[in-house]
Amino acid sequence: MKEVTKMISVEEAQEKLLAVVNILEKEDVPILDSIGQVIAEDIYSEINVPPLDNSAMDGYAVQSVDVEGATPEKPVLLRVIDTVAAGSISGKAVVPGTAIRIMTGAPVPQGADAVVQFENTDEVQRQEEASEQPIKEIGIMQRAEAGLNIRRAGEDIRKGALIFNRGTIIRPAEVGVLASLGKTQVRVISRPVVAVLATGDELVEVGKPLPAGKIYNSNTYSIAAMVRHYGGIPKILGIALDTEESLVNSLRRGLDADMLITSGGVSMGDYDVVKDVLASEGEINFWTVRMKPGKPLAFGTINGRDKTGAPKKIPHLGLPGNPVSTMVTFEMFARLAINKMMGKKSLKKPEIEAILEGRIANRDGRRVFARGIVEKRGEQYFVRPTGPQGSGVLTSMSLANGLVIVPEDRAEARDGDIVRVMMLDWNESMV
Ligand code: AMP
Ligand code: MG
Repeated sequence: MKEVTKMISVEEAQEKLLAVVNILEKEDVPILDSIGQVIAEDIYSEINVPPLDNSAMDGYAVQSVDVEGATPEKPVLLRVIDTVAAGSISGKAVVPGTAIRIMTGAPVPQGADAVVQFENTDEVQRQEEASEQPIKEIGIMQRAEAGLNIRRAGEDIRKGALIFNRGTIIRPAEVGVLASLGKTQVRVISRPVVAVLATGDELVEVGKPLPAGKIYNSNTYSIAAMVRHYGGIPKILGIALDTEESLVNSLRRGLDADMLITSGGVSMGDYDVVKDVLASEGEINFWTVRMKPGKPLAFGTINGRDKTGAPKKIPHLGLPGNPVSTMVTFEMFARLAINKMMGKKSLKKPEIEAILEGRIANRDGRRVFARGIVEKRGEQYFVRPTGPQGSGVLTSMSLANGLVIVPEDRAEARDGDIVRVMMLDWNESMV
């Protein structure tokens, strides 16, 4: 089955792609490996955090009624019956007329209902006088409300409480909270394995000498880097020559992946080889997307196998070979597919409005994604094109922090115009 070439909008292409992409299975992973993954089931706490009432200060645990009248001029004297450090529990109870010396984080002893910090006692003077000996008596110089400097058990997390809804994306803070619950693993949606295949007789693998007429294969690396950046696992299939045999052999090594991304071979000259091969290995459509860079795009499914060996259809995205087109079409299509497979709800990148400094032409009624450098000056965003916008100028992607969008129905965006920018990064120049 194949579709005749016709111009479709970016949105239409996105919809068609997402229609064949499914959310992946759940898996249990070590919490530290889960950054960027989506929590697959509601998580409840089995413990209180902190587990016991504990001291927020270094000081003395007292009974608040004992120190009601305490002032610097008239300290209340209490007998010191014990010292308790974080990690231990005092075997003694505070009774009227006594205090227990306590360190930050140590459980509050029985009988005590407040902690008076060292600064509000005569601790320093007593330490000097006692030299190496433990202090036997302490002067409390300020009254203390019940509860003063006590962190209550369960103040952060209550036993039984819902901590994370499924669908929560894991960031470092979530990793920390999971650790505070004592968990080593978390159930998340799996990361997609994305097979990456470059095509082209002109390509040479990095690290090798560059013969005349050849170029280094950069697309494999920009694609694999983006796969990883957005949370997937790249599976690099190397370079296929523009022959059926080479393409088929390379493809076969990727048939257990969750998605296949090829680059090159979709422009008019090359397309036939790719089309014939992919039609025999699955289903292929050729799209002309109304966007620039990145007009030609191949899309389909490859007949692959899952972990159990059962047949499955692997979504295949054939990106154009020009290095900028490859990256921009990845952002617009492959990234959405990865997000969906990972269970992410929001598939969009942030967009802002900025004042254009420069001019961007749009000659043939496509949606232009020009590489731009966004800066914030005062409360206003400004954006300027990175320089030459050829789809082979990969350094333009490296200079850019956003893609300036010139809609299909605008012949140009002029200096001073307000333009929309899809942000790729939110870096220092933005704040
Ligand atoms: P194609 O889409 O195969 O016609 O390729 C378009 C342009 O992109 C050609 O100039 C190719 O040399 C270049 N190109 C294709 N694949 C790669 C690659 N993997 N790395 C760098 N440039 C590439
Ligand atoms: Mg090619």
